[in-house]
This record gives sequence, C-alpha cells and structure tokens, in this order.
Amino acid sequence: MQKYDIVIVGAGIAGLTAALYAARQRLSTLVVSADLGGQLLLTSEIQNFPGFMSISGLELIKKVEEQARAYGAQIVFDEVTGIEERDGVFLIKTATGNVFQADAVVLAFGKSPKEMGVPGEKEFKGRGVSYCVICDAPLYRGKTVALVGWGLHNYENVIRLRDYASKVYWVFPGEKPLDDEELLKEALSKGNVELVSNSAPVEVRGSKKVEALLVKDRRTGEVKTLQVDGVFVEMGYVTRTEFLKGFVELNENGEIIIDKECKTSRPGVFAAGDVAGMPHKQAVIAAGMGACAALSAYAYIMSKRGKKVSSTSDWRHLEIPGKKESKGLVLKIS
Ligand SMILES: Cc1cc2nc3c(=O)[nH]c(=O)nc-3n(C[C@H](O)[C@H](O)[C@H](O)COP(=O)(O)OP(=O)(O)OC[C@H]3O[C@@H](n4cnc5c(N)ncnc54)[C@H](O)[C@@H]3O)c2cc1C
Repeated sequence: MQKYDIVIVGAGIAGLTAALYAARQRLSTLVVSADLGGQLLLTSEIQNFPGFMSISGLELIKKVEEQARAYGAQIVFDEVTGIEERDGVFLIKTATGNVFQADAVVLAFGKSPKEMGVPGEKEFKGRGVSYCVICDAPLYRGKTVALVGWGLHNYENVIRLRDYASKVYWVFPGEKPLDDEELLKEALSKGNVELVSNSAPVEVRGSKKVEALLVKDRRTGEVKTLQVDGVFVEMGYVTRTEFLKGFVELNENGEIIIDKECKTSRPGVFAAGDVAGMPHKQAVIAAGMGACAALSAYAYIMSKRGKKVSSTSDWRHLEIPGKKESKGLVLKIS
C-alpha cells in the first residue's frame, strides 16, 4: 500500500491548486480523481479568472496541472469510494480496488451533474447519454436528440444543440421551460425544437447506443417514445458525499462543513471548492480554498510530527526541477 503525506481527492481547480501548494511545501502529494478538470471543462470561455481576460476551462486546468506536476505532485485517475481512519492514518479506497495511505486528506471533489435516475441511464452513459451539451453537441450533427432540463442555463444549451442536431426534443416538467418569453421565442425560432412539456423521463432504451427516450406526461400518465440518437441531461449539479456520512460533518445540502482554515469536523481532513458548504461557487474561490486547505494540511502534518510551523504562507522561491533558474533566493526541492 503506497503512503503519501497528503492525498487530494479531485482534480478540478480546487484539487489541483491544493496539489500545487502541498507539493511546494515538499509534501509527497497524490491527487486521486475521476477526471482531470471537473466542471471547468464544461465552459469554453472563462472571463473572470484573475490574470486572464479570456481563457478556456481546459487551458486553465492544463496550466495548473502542469504547475502542480512541476513541483512533484502525482495524479492517478480513479474514483474514490470510501475513506477510513486507522491509527491516525487515512486509507483512501477507490472503485478499482486501490488503497492509498495518507497523513492528511483534502476533499476537493466538487459537484457532479444530477442524474435522471431512470432505467437505461447508467447503461448508456457515454453511448448516447451525456451531461454536457458544450462538450458533446458537435457529436450529434444532423441527428435527433432530447434535452432534459429547464431554466436559463438550458436556453444556451438548446441554442447550441439546435445548431448541430436536425431535431431537438426539449423535455421539462412544467408548462414552459423558460420564464422569459423573448428568449423562448428565440430558442424556438429555427423550427427544429419541439417542446415536450409537463413531462418526466422514465427510461432510456437502445441496443449498442441510445435509440429512444421514454417520457411520461405528468398530468395524464401517458408514456410517449421519443426516437432519439442522444439524450442530454442538464438538470443542475449535486454533491455526491454519501460515502462520507459519519466520517465528516455535512450540511443539509450534503456539502462538507468547513471552518475558515478549510478544516472539516475530523482532524487531518480538509475540504475545498464546490464540495464545501461555502457560498459563491466560482473557480477563483475554489482555487483559493484549495491553497488554504493545503497550507492547513501542511500545518497539521508538521504539528503531528512535532515540528512547529511559524506561518503557513508560501512565499518561497523554489527551483522547479528540470528548469533553469535565473534570479532570487532559490531553495532546492529535495
Ligand atoms: C457550465 C459551467 C460554467 C461555469 N463558468 C464559470 C466561469 O465562467 N467562472 C467561474 O469562476 N466559475 C464558473 N463555473 C463554476 C466553476 O466551474 C466551479 O466553481 C469550479 O470548477 C469548482 O471547482 P472544484 O475543483 O471545486 O470542483 P469540480 O470542478 O467539480 O472538480 C471536481 C473533481 O473531482 C472529481 N471527482 C468527483 N467525485 C470524485 C470521487 N468520488 N473520486 C475522485 N474524484 C472525484 C471530478 O471528476 C472532478 O475532476 C462554471 C460551472 C459550470 C458548470
């Protein structure tokens, strides 16, 4: 079983920033994540991250990944399914059966798309069921798709989809998918979007790929079959913290409760980013919390090892392995 000073769960902007800070404190640092980038990959343009007038989510994430790896952080792709504490050491367990040990843990696994919870959904994930219009709409050029979701966010999604797909069924629970009449008119103006109102998805069907979405009329109970090549689920995001129940304290939304130092209710476990019960879910805030969690974890590890940490800042100018340094006081990474 491999042991690290710190294991960070999640490689979104919060987890990667935590990795950068932890690695710069010379902690052996492992990031375990289901994917690289998290929610930022869902946005083609970010205009409010300091230092960039405009940058794509992917580009931003790649820069932070490179920076974290440059200082020695390692990343493995796996889903964390459980965490235990045994004799003061944390055991981080994954879906593929890996177990990593660490003296401290940073939980930075953000939010995940809300699922429909209907038969066929899991089976056809990645084979016609998608949770990201921005990422996958171009794959459905000339095809028929269903969009399940409502609200302003889905106005943008339907506009994007109707420009690729030949037909879009827009499935939603109420009378209208949008309150704004003007925007709704605009969304329908191309003539290839059909509203499927008062409806709830009940099943995804297909053979190798998605072939149909079954929807139920909430008033009459009638079930209709929509012949589609793809189903886009855009119903918002949820925190998936069920596996942490009883391990750390959660709030009523399932978010991890932290204090101003990003400490959870369990010593040695810290949390950062959208998974934590803090307001303003924004990239720069998640990044800041990642830095805070890593520095707090560093102080925790040092005090556990009987070393006093006078201040947990990160002002040191470190030599980046493999890069030639030219200025300033340079400390070598051992
Ligand atoms: C469409 C969209 C557009 C946005 N636009 C902007 C914007 O313009 N500006 C802005 O500031 N913010 C924007 N945001 C918000 C911003 O993306 C988030 O606040 C930020 O990305 C949160 O980062 P995070 O690292 O906390 O979590 P996430 O980005 O959610 O990353 C979490 C990571 O953890 C991984 N993970 C999840 N569960 C597990 C598990 N059990 N085991 C291992 N790994 C796991 C995921 O795969 C992912 O890599 C946008 C969000 C969306 C959805």
